[in-house]
Amino acid sequence: MDVADDLEPDTSFPDCASCGSPVTMLTVIGPTEAIASPCGCHAPPALFQPEYSNG
Ligand SMILES: [Zn+2]
Repeated sequence: MDVADDLEPDTSFPDCASCGSPVTMLTVIGPTEAIASPCGCHAPPALFQPEYSNG
């Protein structure tokens, strides 16, 4: 319980669902589309929600 996750506030997204690259920023442009950065892939924003990969 000593993980200082506050040091990396920009790494709260899962890897890109399209190319697998680490996503550091997400630009949501609609209810079913978002742009992952820095790779620039388009994908549904639901794919980048933490609970999606927390099975
Ligand atoms: Zn990508």
